[in-house]
Amino acid sequence: MDNKVFILGVPLQSVSLDEAVAQVSNWLQGDVTRLVFTPNAEIIALAQDNAALKQALAQADLTVPDGIGVVWAAHLLGQPLKGRVPGIELLDRLLQMAAMDNYSVYLFGGCPGVAAEAKRRLEERYGDLNIVGFHHGYFDAEEEKKVQAEIQALRPDILAVALGAPKQELWLIENVGSLPVKLALGVGGSLDVIAGKVKRAPLLWRRLGLEWLYRIMTDRRRLKRAWQLPRFVVMVLKAKYRKA
Ligand code: UDP
Repeated sequence: MDNKVFILGVPLQSVSLDEAVAQVSNWLQGDVTRLVFTPNAEIIALAQDNAALKQALAQADLTVPDGIGVVWAAHLLGQPLKGRVPGIELLDRLLQMAAMDNYSVYLFGGCPGVAAEAKRRLEERYGDLNIVGFHHGYFDAEEEKKVQAEIQALRPDILAVALGAPKQELWLIENVGSLPVKLALGVGGSLDVIAGKVKRAPLLWRRLGLEWLYRIMTDRRRLKRAWQLPRFVVMVLKAKYRKA
C-alpha cells in the first residue's frame, strides 16, 4: 500500500476505516500472511527508545493511525492523514467480515478469562463467527509453546493478539513467520472492551477527540503511562521546528 505518512520515523497509512477493511478483505483472499498494527501516540513515543518496536512497526503490511494524537501530529508535520482508524473499530469490522465470509479466528491475550468472555460475547453478537481458539496473555515459555502449537494445529485465518504494546508487536514479529495464519493483528486492550471489562469512552468524548483523556481518567494503569502523551507532543513539535 502506498499513501504512507511518517511520524517520528513510524510509518502510518493514510486510510479510512472502510479502506483498511477493504484492503484486509483482499489480503484474506490470498495466501500470504499479513501483519497489521494500530499505533497510537503512546506507542509511537515508546518506539522512540525501543528500536525493536520501531522496526516491528516498520515491518507491518498495514499500520493504521489509532488516535487523535497521531492525526494531529500528521497534520502539524504537513502530511495529513485521512482520519483515525481506532483499533477496536477495525477489529470489530474484521470480526463482522469473518462471520459473514466464514474466516476462522483465534483470540490471544488479556488476563485469564478475558479472551473466553470476549469469545462468548462475540458469538452472541455475530452468530456465525467461528472462534476456533483462545488463550490468555500471561504465559511462561512452556505455555507459550503450547499456544504456538495450538495455533499451528488450528490454522486460524485471523489471529488477534492483545498483549499490549510493545509485547504484542514484538511477539508477532518473532512468531508470525512460523504461524499458518492469513492475518495477524495487534489489538491492544480490545479484548478487555469486548469482554466488558473496560468501557470505551462515550460517543461525545470520542467525537471531541478526547478518548485518550477518558482512558487515562478511568484506568489507573494508564495514568502511569500517561507521560508518554506530553512527551509525544514535545517530540512532534521539535520535529516540526527542525523541519521549518
Ligand atoms: N496483556 C497481556 N499480557 C501481558 C501484558 C498485557 O495479555 O503480558 C494484556 C492486558 O491484559 C490488556 C492488554 O494486554 O488486555 C493491553 O491493554 P492496553 O489497554 O494496555 O493496550 P493498548 O490498547 O493501550 O495497546
